[in-house]
Amino acid sequence: MSHIPAIQLGRIIDAVTAEGASAPAATEEAAPWSVVDAPGQVWGTADTVVWWGFSGDVSSPPRQPWSSAEIAALAAVDAHVEPIEDAVLREAASWRQALLGARSRAILIMPRRLRGETATPHPLWHEIFAQLELLQAVTKARIPAQAIAIGETARLGDREIKRQGISPLALPTARRRWIVPASTIARRPIESITSIKTMIECPLAWALNYGARVRPGALNVLPDDANLVGILAHAVVENLFAQRKTWLPQEAASASAKMFDSLVVQTAAPLLRLGYAVEYERAKARVSDSIRLLVQMISDAGLTVRGCEEEVVVAFAPGQDFEGYLDLVLEDPKGRSVVLDLKWATRDKYRREEVQEGRALQLAGYTWLEEQAGRTPLGAGYFMLRQQSLLFTSPYPFPAAHHVPGSDLKQTWAALRAAYDHRMEQLERGDVLVRGVEAGTDDTDVDPMPQVEPGCRFCDYGSLCGASIEGGRR
Ligand code: SF4
Repeated sequence: MSHIPAIQLGRIIDAVTAEGASAPAATEEAAPWSVVDAPGQVWGTADTVVWWGFSGDVSSPPRQPWSSAEIAALAAVDAHVEPIEDAVLREAASWRQALLGARSRAILIMPRRLRGETATPHPLWHEIFAQLELLQAVTKARIPAQAIAIGETARLGDREIKRQGISPLALPTARRRWIVPASTIARRPIESITSIKTMIECPLAWALNYGARVRPGALNVLPDDANLVGILAHAVVENLFAQRKTWLPQEAASASAKMFDSLVVQTAAPLLRLGYAVEYERAKARVSDSIRLLVQMISDAGLTVRGCEEEVVVAFAPGQDFEGYLDLVLEDPKGRSVVLDLKWATRDKYRREEVQEGRALQLAGYTWLEEQAGRTPLGAGYFMLRQQSLLFTSPYPFPAAHHVPGSDLKQTWAALRAAYDHRMEQLERGDVLVRGVEAGTDDTDVDPMPQVEPGCRFCDYGSLCGASIEGGRR
């Protein structure tokens, strides 16, 4: 070309100045060995060459893709096709090259069986065997693998392998207390209701999660279908009220169904998999119906939406803040707040009992947050999206049917706060209580919130603490 267009020149420059592409398969080896896929790739010398799988499982020689007439036609224009024999000889030379590259030793690992079939030695073995026989060195060179598993010692290469029998070890027993040096565990600069609840349920779980940061692997925490629907439902409510604060019930239901479809890809894509279509449609209908009911309830109670997923941060202790995200905050005409936490669960029984038995820690934390932020909370409750039911802690402002008596959120918070401070003080001293392990007769711990069960059912540390093995509650 006499001229290169500007666009093409730009592409050429991009191609040669780009950072290049990653090669995910070319990972660095931890060992000082270089690993190759085929013997011919050993092109230099090495102290030791190990040939793993030195068996006859060698592919048959390739067939010439050209016909004789084509080979002759190519030869007529001086294009010479390599004869198959040359390719075979080249491969055989590559085998020898790998072994001749060994400066001190070559170790050939020859399996007896491969994929259940009797394995044959590599073709090169016949050549080597003939030479060993001439040197009367066959016995010295061959080390049967079973020699390593028989007797107390075996030699392999330059190494002496020593074996000794061991008896099974007893599993460690579950301990009620772990003692660590004082001040190893400190208060976190910011606490949330989730972390405080973990502390009350089990100080060890708190210490492992927030102190030692021992977490399950990322793949283990992928949410299941029910959680995904819950996450998606939250996203729908948040988007709905971000668009505008006032909706007519039917309007809100239709908009929610559309948002369910539009948000699913970015929020809960696994719900779109093949075979889940019926459940998906059911979940969508349930969520949009629930939102219709929710909007109706808000309007009937004379409330307005103040915000969704509102972040509230207040001072908790010297040098420590408390942070919460409120799912849905409503207001009455006097500006008093109503906090609703949205839940997608198989049953509402557990949340109902929580409110009835004064264990609604989350709701207590949220109302305290509202007070600390200078507002007047009228109460808080769970709106169960799947059951389309409201479990509210006070008789006002929703109809009495939604009131679940039994909770005094102020009292719950006071107890929760005292229990947290007590457990934190123990942790700071280095005394880590394992609440899921039964107390022994000499245990002097006084549980500040016995009504809250240890969280063993949903805990990731069961095998670590021993609660799931022996002596635990579950
Ligand atoms: S399994 Fe139970 S006892 Fe063990 S750390 Fe978790 S909550 Fe604590």
